[in-house]
This record gives sequence, structure tokens and C-alpha cells, in this order.
Amino acid sequence: MSYPRYRKVRRKRRNPFIPAVLIAFLLVILGAVLFLLQEPVIVLSDQVKFPVGTSVTVRELVLEVQNGVLFNGEESICRTEAGTERAVIQVKNRLGGIYEESVTVTFYEIVIPDTTPPVITAPDSVEILEGQSVDLMQGVSAVDDSGEVCSVAISGEYDPAVPGVYHVFYVAADSAGNVAKKPLTFTVKKLILPFDENGKLVDGTYTTVKGFQIVVEGGMARVEGHVIANKSFALPKTYTSAWMTAETSAAYNQMKNAAQADGITLSVKSAYRSWNDQNWIFNDYVRRDGVEKAETYSARPGHSEHQTGMGLDLVTSDSIEARENAAVKAALDWLNQNAYKYGFILRYPEGKTGETGYIYEPWHYRYVGQALASTLYNNGDWITMESYYGFDSMYRGYTN
Ligand SMILES: [Zn+2]
Repeated sequence: MSYPRYRKVRRKRRNPFIPAVLIAFLLVILGAVLFLLQEPVIVLSDQVKFPVGTSVTVRELVLEVQNGVLFNGEESICRTEAGTERAVIQVKNRLGGIYEESVTVTFYEIVIPDTTPPVITAPDSVEILEGQSVDLMQGVSAVDDSGEVCSVAISGEYDPAVPGVYHVFYVAADSAGNVAKKPLTFTVKKLILPFDENGKLVDGTYTTVKGFQIVVEGGMARVEGHVIANKSFALPKTYTSAWMTAETSAAYNQMKNAAQADGITLSVKSAYRSWNDQNWIFNDYVRRDGVEKAETYSARPGHSEHQTGMGLDLVTSDSIEARENAAVKAALDWLNQNAYKYGFILRYPEGKTGETGYIYEPWHYRYVGQALASTLYNNGDWITMESYYGFDSMYRGYTN
């Protein structure tokens, strides 16, 4: 009998822990590798808009970095004008690799809201006489606190030609829409003329549109002491003078000597003329040329400056001679350039007929003294007494 032989199988007993440790070890390695290889996560800040001029560091743009370390946190970006800029955020992962992410940063202009209205520089009140010209914008300006220059307008109804008191406003607005208003009292005073309804002078004191005072006394008008004789202002029939007033004569003699030294001979063709003289002359002209034409160059009796003893016709009183005679022309040119130094004015300048009421008379000079003469000379562009003082020269019906 045989027995099967049992082969004794010795089973090698395995240590059950070894694979587990190995696996665990491998898992740890794997975990570590995975951990080290983990991609960084950058959590950006919500704050990506800054005022122009701000220096923004990369660190400020990052709220948090996971799985890595911010590498270039101290780098900064800046803009001096509004716009966008790209910032690059660099992060090192755990193995030292650089990971980048970019972000757009906006820089904006700082706008400070303007709530302050402009400040208007303007007068509180302006007063003129009826007929006087006025520029209500003269010297008026408005500036905002930001330095913005604002335009100014006038709000309200007014008429410089109609006497009255007008309450209006200067108005200015800045570009932000803030409006400033400044009140103005604009007064147009009634112009009172020194004539009655017939054109006869009425004694009293009157203010001209140029702000001068006309003083009428004994039927004679004076401004700053200067007697006025023109188509508006007559002299009393009884008013007489010497051939020249003493002052006129003294000034004329000085002037005549000065002219002589320059080789110019002056002569007086006509000085004082009485009311009767003028009456005769005027009517003679009227007979010759008719009233309308005669009045362009000759005065009605009482209205002639010659009656004052201060009006002189020098060298000639003839327009043809003034044009054609060289010596006469030279003398009139000399007067035109020098007479003011001795207190004489060219009374009826060229192109001023509308003011004086008379055609150009290059020979007719009026003594007014050096102060006024120097002003009216105006470098040869003569200003008339009418324009300077602000009165007219027109017949109003009355003749002495
Ligand atoms: Zn004359």
C-alpha cells in the first residue's frame, strides 16, 4: 500500500504590511509630487481702477496667492493720463517655476465736482444820459473758482435811448452749469437841453451827453469857461468884443512871431464882427448863393464865432486861394500843425461838418487856451468842441 506522498508545500508566508507600507509610501510620494506640482492660484483684488498719477504695486492688485508665492509684488505701474495699463503678476510655484497672469488696470481722471458758481466782476450801477452811448460790458468779467473764464450776459429789458431806471442782471454760468447773477441798476437820465421850444437859450446849468456842464447865463452858453457860438448856441445881439479879446491877441502875437521864425507870415483877415456886421455879411451871402448854401459856410447873425472876438480867419478866407496859392497853403499847413501850441484850434475841421454844422474852413481858428487846444489837436486829427463836450450845432428856429 502506498500512500500518496504528499509533497509538503511550504507556503512562504508574506508579510502583509510590506505592500501597504509601499503603497502608502508611494502615495505619499505621489501626494508630495502632486502637491509640489500644484498650479498656483492667484486671487485678484477687485480694485483695478486708480486715479491718474497713482503708483500701483503688483501686490496691491493681488488679494491672495494659493500654491505659490508672489514674485514681483514690489513692481509698480503708473500712468499720467487716463487709460489702461497691463500689469503682469508673477508667482513662483513650489518647485520654483514662474507662473504669470496679467491684469488690466484702469487709470481715470480725477474729477472734482464743481458746485461753486463763477464770481462776476461788474458795476452795481451805471448811469448815463439819454442819447449817451454806453457799454455795459466794459470791465465786466466772470471767473470760476477753477479758473475757468465764463462769458457774461445781461438778463432783463433795458433801452439806453429811453430815460428810466432799469433793474437787470449780469448772468454768468460755468461749464458745470453753476449760474451766478449780479444785479445792475441802469439809469438813463433824461437829457435836458438848454433851449426853449423856440430854440432860445434858457439860463441854467445843463449836463451834456459827455458829462460836461453847460452854463447859460445872460443868454450866453459856456462850457469850462469857453463861450460857445455855433448854430445851436447864439450870442446876445448886444454882445460885443474888441477886435480880439486880450488873451486872443496875446496868443496870436506869440504865434505870429513863431511862424515868422519859421518863415511863415500870418495875417488876420477877420476877427471880431458885430451882430450887425454878421447880419450884413450873412444876408449878402444869401443873396449870392441862397440860404441853404450860405448856411454851410456862414453863420446867421448872433451865431458867428467872430462875434466872440476869439474866432480868427487867418491868412485867407478864400477856399480857392487856400487850394491854389502855395504861400497860403504853407501858412495854413503851419497853423494846422502849430496853432494848438498857442491855444488855437482849427474850429471847422475837414470831414466834421456833421458835428460843427460848417464845411471845412482851414483858415478859421478859435482861441480856447493851450490846455483845451492840446486836447482837441489830437495829433492833427482835430476833435471838435461839439464832439468833445457833447453838444450839437443846429438851428432850432431862434435867431437873435
Ligand atoms: Zn471865420
